[in-house]
Amino acid sequence: MPTRRALVVGAGIAGLATALRLRRSDWDVVLVERAEQSQDLGFPCALRGIGHDAATRLGLMPALIEHSQPRCDTVVVDVAGTPFALYSKPSTATPVLRRTDVVTVLRGAVGSVEARRSTGVLELAEDDCGVTVTFSDGDEDWFDLVVGADGVDSAVRGAVFGERHGHRQATVSVSSRLETASASAVRMDLSGRSLRVHPLSDGSSAALFAWHGNASLPLRQAFGDLTWLAPDLLSQVDTGPVTRRASFQVHADRWASGQIALVGDAAWCTGRPCGEGASLAIGGAELLGDALDIFPGTAGALAWWEEQMRPIVRHQKRHSAGGTRDEDRP
Ligand SMILES: Cc1cc2nc3c(=O)[nH]c(=O)nc-3n(C[C@H](O)[C@H](O)[C@H](O)COP(=O)(O)OP(=O)(O)OC[C@H]3O[C@@H](n4cnc5c(N)ncnc54)[C@H](O)[C@@H]3O)c2cc1C
Repeated sequence: MPTRRALVVGAGIAGLATALRLRRSDWDVVLVERAEQSQDLGFPCALRGIGHDAATRLGLMPALIEHSQPRCDTVVVDVAGTPFALYSKPSTATPVLRRTDVVTVLRGAVGSVEARRSTGVLELAEDDCGVTVTFSDGDEDWFDLVVGADGVDSAVRGAVFGERHGHRQATVSVSSRLETASASAVRMDLSGRSLRVHPLSDGSSAALFAWHGNASLPLRQAFGDLTWLAPDLLSQVDTGPVTRRASFQVHADRWASGQIALVGDAAWCTGRPCGEGASLAIGGAELLGDALDIFPGTAGALAWWEEQMRPIVRHQKRHSAGGTRDEDRP
């Protein structure tokens, strides 16, 4: 029987992975989600590193591989479309997943869990051994642990550690589904912007345009000067549904305070349009569950967990394209 209660704010990859891991131990989990399902399904990325290892230990790998998008070579091209590098396709053990694929698998693994909808910022009042939470509808409840897995604009981070803690320049990404098939993935990385295409398992393709800076810049203004790939993609995108998302690098000085922890983008968003966010979210959630199993007290467990996660996140950021020394500060 569950003996401890956790509130997990946010049902994205970090929140669902946390709920799954805590339920594997003796935790009763309540999940709060603000949004309806997003129209932005995400762009296919290989699941590697800490997230791959954690997903394997959590028994998720067969379902993730089943939901994988095609594994294919990635051709890296210059601005004129001339190929200059080739990344070989990931191994069969490495699934290539959109955010929606991972969320679908995690939802299935978590099963039925008490869930509530919240639209407003929560009030959190910590005592020596837990947290009293006031929900946006005025309800109050007490939990042994609160996990802020509410993404880059985390309300939990704002409430506990201060508003918009350490936000940096935005990465804007616009994604779309193209009707045309693509045999391989194509990637064009230019200064401050990038363009990607990846085949999808239903025979269509996903396109991703990303740039640093102005989040409201029209797509044609950001990519209209390019003469290869972009004109064709832009004309296809004009006729289909498009989703736009701004993401920030997050540098929070603390990820844990007493009985409250931040996991995933809420704590350490790398601000990259396609990369390690999902991997760090799953890996961080699993390690959090381990810490809470090992340590008798929540505060001690969270402090140890943060100490273990910091170098892993720093390492990932350092190895991300565009990472700088400054971004890597602990
Ligand atoms: C729509 C979308 C598409 C993405 N596409 C890509 C992609 O193509 N490639 C890529 O590499 N990364 C993508 N990402 C980012 C990637 O999914 C994350 O880096 C990674 O999964 C870690 O996510 P997270 O769970 O920490 O945060 P998120 O995925 O942002 O999830 C946070 C969840 O918390 C909910 N939430 C926010 N505020 C509150 C609140 N106050 N109360 C309750 N719930 C709240 C949100 O609705 C969301 O469901 C995408 C993220 C989103 C949201």
